[in-house]
Amino acid sequence: MIIIKQIKSMSRWAKTQKNKGRTIGFVPTMGYIHEGHLSLVRKAKKDCDRVVMSIFVNPIQFGPKEDFKRYPRDSKRDYRLAKSAGVDLIFYPSTKDMYPDNFLTYVSVTGLTNILCGRSRPDHFKGVTTVVTKLFNIIAPDIAYFGQKDAQQAIVIKKMAEDLNFPIKISVLPTVREGGGLAMSSRNTYLSASERYDALVINRALKSAKRLISSGELNAYMVISHIKKLIKQKKSVRIDYVEVVDMNSLKKINKISGGVLIVIAVFIGKTRLIDNITLKI
Ligand code: AMP
Repeated sequence: MIIIKQIKSMSRWAKTQKNKGRTIGFVPTMGYIHEGHLSLVRKAKKDCDRVVMSIFVNPIQFGPKEDFKRYPRDSKRDYRLAKSAGVDLIFYPSTKDMYPDNFLTYVSVTGLTNILCGRSRPDHFKGVTTVVTKLFNIIAPDIAYFGQKDAQQAIVIKKMAEDLNFPIKISVLPTVREGGGLAMSSRNTYLSASERYDALVINRALKSAKRLISSGELNAYMVISHIKKLIKQKKSVRIDYVEVVDMNSLKKINKISGGVLIVIAVFIGKTRLIDNITLKI
């Protein structure tokens, strides 16, 4: 497995692969690799000749009071896991190279980014779309892989790729969960044992909502109330939002029909966790 830190070297490597007729699958991450990331790598390996993973804790997608400084970092562990899953190259740029002092340009998707997570994290998606644009330009992959766990992010990236004519296919893969149903996340490491136990209520509430809908409840307000009631049983869990939205437009819906996304964001202590399920009625 190759490790590249310089932007120019990364582009050169990618161009060489292209010239040899090889396709590149790209998995952007912030590191502290877990099975969720590795599921993207495995799919990329099936689809493409070469797999590039980027590891970059992107400062501009964190708010001033968020966890940029304490975000978990362990490059040795990341390299080991990436290598064992068959990553061909890790791109590990520095913040200084990605955002030099004279950096002035941002990419932002409007409309989809001022709701849900964008409401409580105002500049978050602008940071994500800016860094992903840079990474797309540096690596020029054929297919880029994202997780359904960050459902709004996946929709925003798809829209960006479409609107800006990136010749890159965006592939979105299912959420990988721990045994108890908690969605895997690098941020789960922040949780104490009791917080981790309480966090199981998120997926439990989503599954219960799914059952409620299957039994005929199609009123989104009733489904949201049901989820909130279950979550509120855990005193350590504070709800940021619970919404039922259209799975493509992210618009709130009243009557559940077609493709819907039930999305949840909570705080447990200082840790913000998100999860969702999709339903087709
Ligand atoms: P992150 O390192 O958290 O920025 O995540 C990098 C990529 O992995 C994003 O596309 C995430 O949506 C995806 N990802 C993170 N957690 C999971 C998970 N539990 N299942 C599937 N994909 C995930």
